[in-house]
Amino acid sequence: MEIISVETRSRTEFVDVTAQVRAAAKKSGVKSGVCICFVPHTTAAVTINENADPDVTDDIDHELNKIIPLDDGYAHVEGNSSAHIKSSLVGCEQVLLIEKGQLVLGTWQGVYFCEFDGPRTRKLYVKIIGDE
Ligand code: ZN
Repeated sequence: MEIISVETRSRTEFVDVTAQVRAAAKKSGVKSGVCICFVPHTTAAVTINENADPDVTDDIDHELNKIIPLDDGYAHVEGNSSAHIKSSLVGCEQVLLIEKGQLVLGTWQGVYFCEFDGPRTRKLYVKIIGDE
């Protein structure tokens, strides 16, 4: 398993980790298989979305902040319930395909580490499983 370290700089942030995930897939030497990306945190997530226009992830962040406000009379005393809720909604894993030794992504797709309670030093676990 590869561990990608992610430094986040603000409370909420979408960090493009596509290059690091591609590198992990390549390093594995697997020609055909799957790549599982897993976030071992309860206030972060991982998603796949457009990597051409940064406004897209800004818009996702903006809308998540509208539907899940920072303060809303939450019971959890730690004060980061909004981050826990966003983590569950966006999800802590993504499964990608590997073919011909390369990660398979659509032209405009990138892999994003989603920070919802930063800034922090985070981890993204990457497990490559070959099918040969
Ligand atoms: Zn908490």
